[in-house]
Amino acid sequence: MVGDELSKKAQAVFLGVAIGDALGATTEFMTSHEIKAKYKVHKKIRGGGWLGVKPGQVTDDTEMSLAIAQAILAEEKWNLGAIADNFLTWMRNKPIDIGATVRKGITNYRLKGELEVPVNHWDAGNGALMRMAPVALFTLGDDHLLKRYSLEQARLTHNHPLSDAACICIGQMVHAALLGADRFQLHAMARELIAEHKTFRFNNYKGLASGYVVDTMQTVLHYFFTTASFEECLIGVVNQGGDADTTGAIAGMLCGAFYGPESLPKQWLNKLDKQVKNEIEVSSSKLIQLSPWIAKDSHIQEISGNLWDYYDQGYVVAITTNGKVSKAGRNVMVRGTAKQAAEKFPALAEALGTQISNSGNHVYDLGNRVVSFPVEHSPWEVPDLHLIVQSCRELRRLTDNNNWQKVIVPRPGCGGGGLSWREVKPLLEPHFDERFLIINAVTR
Ligand SMILES: [Mg+2]
Repeated sequence: MVGDELSKKAQAVFLGVAIGDALGATTEFMTSHEIKAKYKVHKKIRGGGWLGVKPGQVTDDTEMSLAIAQAILAEEKWNLGAIADNFLTWMRNKPIDIGATVRKGITNYRLKGELEVPVNHWDAGNGALMRMAPVALFTLGDDHLLKRYSLEQARLTHNHPLSDAACICIGQMVHAALLGADRFQLHAMARELIAEHKTFRFNNYKGLASGYVVDTMQTVLHYFFTTASFEECLIGVVNQGGDADTTGAIAGMLCGAFYGPESLPKQWLNKLDKQVKNEIEVSSSKLIQLSPWIAKDSHIQEISGNLWDYYDQGYVVAITTNGKVSKAGRNVMVRGTAKQAAEKFPALAEALGTQISNSGNHVYDLGNRVVSFPVEHSPWEVPDLHLIVQSCRELRRLTDNNNWQKVIVPRPGCGGGGLSWREVKPLLEPHFDERFLIINAVTR
């Protein structure tokens, strides 16, 4: 699937959350009978409800999802502390609605700085589940990452096996739907959840739609599997009442992934708060661009082996370096490809040390077809992603200016530096074209 098409589908997932939230806010805490008496069928984004929202206004479900998205996009990586900080800022700004468990979790972070609440029997609410959209988008293509990040974000406020299981299940269903799974495949995934936790069974749906994560999942799954469009499913869900904004948000997420962008009713989309809609569209595209799925699809050419074999074939060789200069004026080249280069070219450490002392930690043409590629400020620090991006840009410029045709670069920061290639690769994408080869270098 091409990136643009997936971007649109990603937007549909997150817009689905906001639509379900805005539509369901009207009927939250009502019973299905009360809804029927008042609206016959509630199918307009009309505002109101117990919170008295404006038409198109969203609540905590969408706001907390955006808080997660903002934290990821700020540094283009997963940062649980940043998510917790954003939650705290959001809480301090007096949101229109906030769940009791969410408040307790964020307060726990504020008081103790802890990123996980203790296991709690009462944490089986749907408050972690409702904010899964950004996690699902950001981890598309990697089930292991999905599970890990789902649980991390969930346990900021909710630590309960049923909440955990529901978060992972919905995340996996969104992943599968985004990549084209059909109804039967998605149903099989729901059955897997039920095999693990029978309580989620949703045949003979009893109409309970509370904030208990089991009721929520049953409502969403029941309507998802018994309707045939985004609109029909969402109308079914929000007319069930109960925690209608959250069941709506979760159903919207799943339906957005499954039915796609064309399925979102225009009359609902046009009613959404403009600023929220814009932010969601931009964030969703960015999140999916960062996902392993897109990165895997990339044009980046990779091999593994010995860097210097390629040097012998005429490649310009980048060596991953740090910005540390010894008292003697030599760059500290004690690890990986830098160490190999220093052994091969004895004058190199001094040449690079002089450059760094004069002009800072940058990409330099060091002669002999060797260039520096800074990944960290000193060998004792962890690699810096911003520095890696800067180095990509500089190496690209140098390559263009010198008209080099073959450049080989070790996976930056991924050897002794300890970064994961999955995390780093998307950073390289925009800068490296077919002239560049990435090597998973043998350094011993
Ligand atoms: Mg809400």
